[in-house]
Formats: sequence, C-alpha cells, structure tokens
Amino acid sequence: MGRTVGIVAIQGDFEKHARAFEKCGAAVHFVKSPEQLAEVDRAVIPGGESTTVGKLMQRFGLGAAIEERAKAGMPLWGTCMGMILMAKEVEAYDQYRLGLLDVTVRRNAFGAQVHSFEDEVCMKGFDQPVTGVFIRAPIVVRCGKGVEMLAEYEGATVAVRQGNLLGTSFHPELTDDTRLHEWFMKW
Ligand code: GLN
Repeated sequence: MGRTVGIVAIQGDFEKHARAFEKCGAAVHFVKSPEQLAEVDRAVIPGGESTTVGKLMQRFGLGAAIEERAKAGMPLWGTCMGMILMAKEVEAYDQYRLGLLDVTVRRNAFGAQVHSFEDEVCMKGFDQPVTGVFIRAPIVVRCGKGVEMLAEYEGATVAVRQGNLLGTSFHPELTDDTRLHEWFMKW
C-alpha cells in the first residue's frame, strides 16, 4: 500500500510541502478536519503563523485529533511554525500548542533585523549538509529526556526528533532537496 501524507492546510506554505512530497512519489492530502486526518498515515504541520494556526486548529478539532494520532505513533513533522505548535512550551508566549514534543522553543530567535536567511546545516544521519532556509525561525532552548538533537546552527538546536516526532526550525520544502521528505516518508 502506498503511503499517504497529510499536510495541515490552514495557513502557511503547505503547497510547497505538497510539491516536495509529490516529487518523492507520495500521495498527498490537504488536511483541515479530523475526518481528513483519518485518511492519512503521517502528517506535516508547515511553516506559517503559529498563533493564528493554533487557534484555528483548536477550533476545527484538528489539534485534538493530531494529538491523539501522534500519541498512538503517527509520524508527525513540524517545520518552523509546525515545530512551535508541536512543542510542550513556547518561551514568553501563552499560546495554543499540541504539547507533544518535550522541548521549549523560542519564537523568532534570530532577531528582528535578520528575519530570513539561508545557510548550510549538518543533520545527523545525512552525509551532505542540507540547506537551511530560516524565516523568522524558532530555536529549541530546552530538550527533554528522549529528545534527540539532530542539528545545531551557531550553537542553537534547530532540528530534533522524539520517536515518531520530528521538528525542524528551517524549511526544507523551500529548496529542491527532498532528502528530508524522503526520509520522513520511510518512517
Ligand atoms: N515566526 C513564526 C511564528 O512564530 C514562524 C515562522 C515560520 O513558520 N516561518 O509563528
């Protein structure tokens, strides 16, 4: 049976993720409701604005559905905003979140002047560095037990894994490199 990935399509760069997964030969569904989530075997929360998307995910019942599936082992990947929404704690903000990934994230961690940049990032398990596109990106400032650090950039943690959960501060879907997408499809 082919693998189907659901991309949370409330706001943000979900189209780009869809193109990247299609390039890997995966079937892609856009997901806004718990019913749509039930049709997929893994999911991605893309980049966007975490306060807005969090509120809507809660309102549509999608947040609770993702929480339940992820706790039952469904692979879930959050890029940038997605990682913020997956976190247990968001520094300085009391915003809606799934609380799945035992980390504390700091939003917009690279400062006000540098909203956006790209640079090479070395990921554990990958021979060649990936291009990290950072857009008002968060970093991980605390990792709980069971959270594996997968990448660091200038001393800050920018990719983590906790079992079936993956969080990256940057946006692989905005590059032509689909290695991370391919890897995630194998989980
Ligand atoms: N700065 C955004 C937030 O905190 C995340 C940015 C992104 O996903 N590219 O919600």
